[in-house]
Amino acid sequence: MAGGCCGILPGMDLDHAVNSVRADVPTCWTVVVPGPFFGGFTYHLEGDPPPPAPGMRVRVPFGRSERVAVVIEPASADGQETRPIAAVLDAHPLLDAETLACLRWAAAYYHHPLGDVVFSALPKALRGTRDLQVDALALTEAGREAAEAGTARGARQRDALMALHEAGAPVPATALGAASVRRRLVERGWARPTSMIAPADWPDPPEGQGGLAPVLNDEQRAAVEAVSAGLARFDAWLLQGVTGSGKTEVYLALIERVLASGRQVLVVVPEISLTPQLIERFARRLDVVPAVLHSGLADGERLAAWRAVAAGSARLVIGTRSAAFVPLPRPGLIVVDEEHDAALKQQEGFLYHARDVLVWRARQLDVPIVLGSATPSLETLRHAWAGRYHHLRLTRRATGARMPVMHCLDIRAQPMEGGLSPALMRAIERHLLAGGQVMLYLNRRGYASSLVCHACGWVAGCPHCDAFLTWHRQIGRLRCHHCGYEQGVPAECPSCQAPLSVRGLGTEQLEDVLAARFPGFGIVRLDRDATAGKGVMAESLARVGRGEARLVVGTQMLVKGHDFPGVSLVGVVNADQALFASDFRGPERFAQSLLQVAGRAGRAERPGEVLVQTHDPEHPVLRRLLDQDYEAVMAAELAEREQAELPPTRFAALVRADAPEAGVARAFLARVANAVRSESGDQLAVWGPVSAPLARRAGRHRFQLLLLSRVRSTLHQALWRVDESVGSRRPGQGLRWSIDVDPIDLA
Ligand code: ADP
Ligand code: ZN
Ligand code: ZN
Repeated sequence: MAGGCCGILPGMDLDHAVNSVRADVPTCWTVVVPGPFFGGFTYHLEGDPPPPAPGMRVRVPFGRSERVAVVIEPASADGQETRPIAAVLDAHPLLDAETLACLRWAAAYYHHPLGDVVFSALPKALRGTRDLQVDALALTEAGREAAEAGTARGARQRDALMALHEAGAPVPATALGAASVRRRLVERGWARPTSMIAPADWPDPPEGQGGLAPVLNDEQRAAVEAVSAGLARFDAWLLQGVTGSGKTEVYLALIERVLASGRQVLVVVPEISLTPQLIERFARRLDVVPAVLHSGLADGERLAAWRAVAAGSARLVIGTRSAAFVPLPRPGLIVVDEEHDAALKQQEGFLYHARDVLVWRARQLDVPIVLGSATPSLETLRHAWAGRYHHLRLTRRATGARMPVMHCLDIRAQPMEGGLSPALMRAIERHLLAGGQVMLYLNRRGYASSLVCHACGWVAGCPHCDAFLTWHRQIGRLRCHHCGYEQGVPAECPSCQAPLSVRGLGTEQLEDVLAARFPGFGIVRLDRDATAGKGVMAESLARVGRGEARLVVGTQMLVKGHDFPGVSLVGVVNADQALFASDFRGPERFAQSLLQVAGRAGRAERPGEVLVQTHDPEHPVLRRLLDQDYEAVMAAELAEREQAELPPTRFAALVRADAPEAGVARAFLARVANAVRSESGDQLAVWGPVSAPLARRAGRHRFQLLLLSRVRSTLHQALWRVDESVGSRRPGQGLRWSIDVDPIDLA
């Protein structure tokens, strides 16, 4: 790896800044630090402390200060002068060879600086100099004799002495009782103070927790047996099962077998499905304490869980996308649930897709990976259709409940009330009176999408974005959903003083309309505004679960995971918004959301009904979806993508740039486009630069350039050329730019 740098310190060439005296040292190491550097930096070790190893942290002089760095590999000085490592911070590597290899692959694949990638894989608590050493006591010879003779007086002293004796090794001080007790042990010459690496222990489950597994049905059993037959090697499995078909039971049966063989299992789920109920279900059934890894943990909790996994003492890990990089010394199986979910792709900074990283890792670890979904991504389906992944299907609901019946409601020329057609109103009433619960899905929060003036055409817009402000009536504010800007609601049109009216429909308004029309049935709203407070979400879900709320209104939040057995009607308030989305993934996303939300209906005895409001009842995607033939929808979609030369039939990367001045960002991408065009043949398509769909956000003008190729290596060569031609990830003039490989979102 080259010792390159990007000159972020003005007027200073870091390659020289880090160099100084000694050219004669035999051994050097390449290390990385966080920051916009593509390469690593070379340092040597002075004196004769134990040398570092790849995956350990070191402290190094860097420019005019010191930084914590991670050692990547030994290097040769190549006649260059290098500066010395100031201190080696770890006695054992934090990242093992396999994890480091994965991080290096990911940095190269996603064209992201390696230092950022490596540091993002460490728990926050280890990104600094934090030492894993803790105070400890070691037993002395006198202590051993005292323990064997039973001469200790006082129960607490005796307990501590016996604990030391039984451990046969130093024990962390905090595990040996009160400070006064420990002091007495030392004073009596039975123990001496020392230090040790804090153990990465993980608790055993409480006794008698094991839950009973249901008897698997034929399809489930076939799936479990197929994967079980190949547990000792890499294979990718797509487990495509309709909502409620018992995919989780299949995971549980597989995980049970792998845990029984003493190996580790990593389960990655989208952020929103990592609920206490899910963790509890795994814990109870598998009789283990899962190590949970997600961004909401306190630093100490995350450190403890991460270390226990990295040490191999925690055998089951359940986490969100960042768990994809946790070291697994005894790997046995990887599961990615809801593999189609966009939340598995990191959308800022290091833009990796956890599913794709994990498929790569599973191959490298030589363990099977199971990708589960009711609505697999087109990428994954295509691999399965081509035979690269094995394809397992669960076609029936495990509880015997029938799949819901789906119809669309043509709302052209219908008298609408708060976005609801008379037919949908009647259906809601019918289901409520029959004792069912009703769920209404609308992908826009707030009361109305905008305030408009009918007299002069004024619209309340965000001063910083090319977007309308959303009216949130309950807090009496207008809010921008893109940058967070807020302002009060004007009493009249600021430009002509006419009264203002509302346009568009949000969840708040829907809630009001339903509450007025169906009083006394109890209503719960599930969206980011309504569930912001701590515990509010759990309480809302509990109200639905207990049947106190018979009406549920919500956004995307409704789509995922929650199992509400009483729901018999799902209403999709506005299908058109998604059907006519500008993004090429619009139809795929819509199909996924619709089938997932429909899957909330009729999970138990009550047969489910799904009604979809649209102005375009003949839309081909909608027609095919009503037959609930997801694979047929996706096969048609794949043909269209091939026709349009779009992913997944092409490898794609998006180069984004934004700046306070539009000209700066556009000119930058035009230069980048020229650089790649001049050197790539007709293997590479370069689209743009064009304005991003949201052309201005938080005061910055946004442009993008889409690169497409049938050949992955051609695309990646082009991306290296982009980096070369720019020379820096922070080129000045307030410009920010980034590369998004396999973008899932062109916004
Ligand atoms: P999915 O993960 O596909 O949504 P789950 O595994 O959560 O499905 O199962 C849906 C429901 O069906 C759960 O209540 C689960 O307990 C139940 N279930 C799963 N498999 C069986 C089975 N073989 N027999 C009876 N009930 C089952
Ligand atoms: Zn006006
Ligand atoms: Zn804004």
